[in-house]
Amino acid sequence: MRLLVTGGAGFIGSNFIRRMLRREPDLSLINLDALTYAGCRDSLADLEGDRRYEFVHGDIQDENLVRRLVARVDGVINFAAESHVDRSIEDPDVFLKTNIQGVRVLLDAVRLEKGRDLRFHQVSTDEVYGDLGEGGGYFTEESRLAPSSPYSASKTAADLLALAWRRTFGVDVVITRCSNNYGPYQFPEKLIPLMIWKASRDEPLPVYGQGLNIRDWLFVDDHADALWEVYRRAERGAVFNIGGNNEWRNIEIVKLILRQLGKPESLIEFVDDRPGHDLRYAIDAGRIQRELGWTPAVDFDEGIRRTIRWYRENGDWTEALRRRVP
Ligand code: NAD
Repeated sequence: MRLLVTGGAGFIGSNFIRRMLRREPDLSLINLDALTYAGCRDSLADLEGDRRYEFVHGDIQDENLVRRLVARVDGVINFAAESHVDRSIEDPDVFLKTNIQGVRVLLDAVRLEKGRDLRFHQVSTDEVYGDLGEGGGYFTEESRLAPSSPYSASKTAADLLALAWRRTFGVDVVITRCSNNYGPYQFPEKLIPLMIWKASRDEPLPVYGQGLNIRDWLFVDDHADALWEVYRRAERGAVFNIGGNNEWRNIEIVKLILRQLGKPESLIEFVDDRPGHDLRYAIDAGRIQRELGWTPAVDFDEGIRRTIRWYRENGDWTEALRRRVP
């Protein structure tokens, strides 16, 4: 089986590619990535030269290129996106282009492969459901779509396009909506790698508001495994939530990182909150557990220890990516 993975030079895509090529001997992957500020071809340097892996530098909005690549594969898993909420607040335009128009191009390329019945897997996010607030509860696959940020609105639009292409054109789509991921190769503007990076250098750790926002955290390998189960086994048109059942306030995560690095809490610096900042996301991942038998394998203690060790041992990688941002 040969698949097109888009956005595979990013955090989750690169972990997915490495893990699946190691595990699935009959799998070949083409990685189409535009190498934006968030993309890093070096994250998969160990796979260059592997005959089951091919890197293509290009944009998912490039209709001709996407059509040519889709003609060579048995299915598509789309990780490509602009993914940072803060950036979407500063400049939403590129989010609409990549996250919506790019998905339209991919869906049409799959649709136009008539008779081959390719599967299109849209990697989505729990942020499409919006904010749970103080009230408690969990998002299920039936929860109302109520995105808060330009980022999550663009991801919601992509989910709706995928479902519309399923209904109108009969395209075989599946959608997964995952909670926050952590692990190696995450761009160091996101909470966990940013805090590890700053703390290691004894720099102040900027925490939004009072750090009370709650997120559900999942180790990236567990997400990769869940994606693979859904890609291979889910029925057409299915939507699955993926989550770790592992809720933490941001401030608790920051303190945990400081403790593990042996750094003082006095490094924490509270900064003005992000506009529209969702207080809590939490996923009910019961459906994927019941129907596909997937559960997270890595507990948070172990995952965060592995993650901190990886960033400490790969300071050069982080340094190179930090140089791309102010
Ligand atoms: P990332 O920002 O680390 O990587 C995105 C990748 O997409 C980069 O390699 C970038 O170069 C590439 N890309 C961007 N625009 C492109 C374009 N127009 N054409 C081709 N490639 C392009 O993101 P990530 O954290 O790995 O997230 C991957 C996917 O998973 C995203 O769709 C995101 O919405 C979703 N997701 C992420 C999380 C998380 O916690 N990180 C949680 C749930 C869902």
